[in-house]
Amino acid sequence: MTTTVDTPATTVRGATVELSSVVKNYGGQRALDGISLSMRPGEFVALLGPSGCGKTTALRALAGLEQVDAGSIRIDEKDVVDVPVNRRDIGMVFQSYSLFPHLSAQDNVEFGLRMRRVPAAERRRRAAESLELVGLGHLAGRYAHQLSGGQQQRVALARALVTRPRVLLLDEPLSALDAKVRVQLREEIRRIQTELGITTLFVTHDQEEALAVADRVAVMREGRIEQIGTPEELYTSPETPFVAEFVGLTNRMPGQLRAGGVTVLGTELQLLGTPQPDGAVFALVRPEDIVLSAFGTPAMVIGTSFLGSLRRTRVSLEDGLELSVQHEAGVSLALGERVQLSLRGRAVAVIPRP
Ligand code: ADP
Ligand code: MG
Repeated sequence: MTTTVDTPATTVRGATVELSSVVKNYGGQRALDGISLSMRPGEFVALLGPSGCGKTTALRALAGLEQVDAGSIRIDEKDVVDVPVNRRDIGMVFQSYSLFPHLSAQDNVEFGLRMRRVPAAERRRRAAESLELVGLGHLAGRYAHQLSGGQQQRVALARALVTRPRVLLLDEPLSALDAKVRVQLREEIRRIQTELGITTLFVTHDQEEALAVADRVAVMREGRIEQIGTPEELYTSPETPFVAEFVGLTNRMPGQLRAGGVTVLGTELQLLGTPQPDGAVFALVRPEDIVLSAFGTPAMVIGTSFLGSLRRTRVSLEDGLELSVQHEAGVSLALGERVQLSLRGRAVAVIPRP
């Protein structure tokens, strides 16, 4: 038993996590279609994908909240398929705050320790330490219903961490919060996670959030992982059109594919991902790979938005094709202004064009 051993919260060592060909069916519906994922100790992986692709199911399977139909789940090399939830050494935070509203922050955090029969004095000390870790030491006595959404999620995080788990699972923990709090709290989660060294799987449907916080991002689609890589790898070298379009903004530009290259607006571009048959395609071109230049394809400005250091401008080509172009904020363009475009020439993913 570790309940009475007094190790500081900062000495948690993250576990390895390995999902191998995991299948989960709900009736006739396949929620996980052979999903495989390996995580290093202390690694922060974001599981990113559209609603319904199986993210929550993957997390619940790993936590032991769902039985799987096939495949293996290992934590520190030990098969945990038959290990119950409370013995998997996992902490979880959900989208909804899921705190007891009539209990104080302190009592909410103590709850898991009470279940484990940790003596009262140690319970109090550890809960206080855990609340301190998430920056809420001063609000320990507040009832959950007296806290803001962001504060409630901090309490939920403190509660998940107080048992000193070696794996942390977060299921869209920020999606109920407003934009500014979301960004603050995701940075806070990352800081605490790094400090503790706890292996973390963070589920989100928000690609910007995933790229911002994770060491690696696993892009999920229809119960499978389509690609896993660092944020940079996914953004610059998407292996499939789905990943190219889901991660970051892209423009669909008609082009002709021939002999492994695609010609778009008169520029020949290399292909990313697996080779494709020759023919008509859409090339998926990032806004920053289209340049406003002194000569090139004529276009007209139809909208522009200021993004701080950058500006994103919508333009319309003579054939009606609309594109997003990204450029320095200092270059300011009027609506209706005539511009010319060229391509930087970076490699692109393509999808067939009907
Ligand atoms: P995500 O979290 O990515 O939005 P989920 O893992 O919740 O996706 O769901 C994956 C698929 O499994 C969806 O089609 C969903 O409708 C289905 N599903 C999830 N939970 C259940 C359940 N308890 N019973 C039946 N179908 C479910
Ligand atoms: Mg979900």
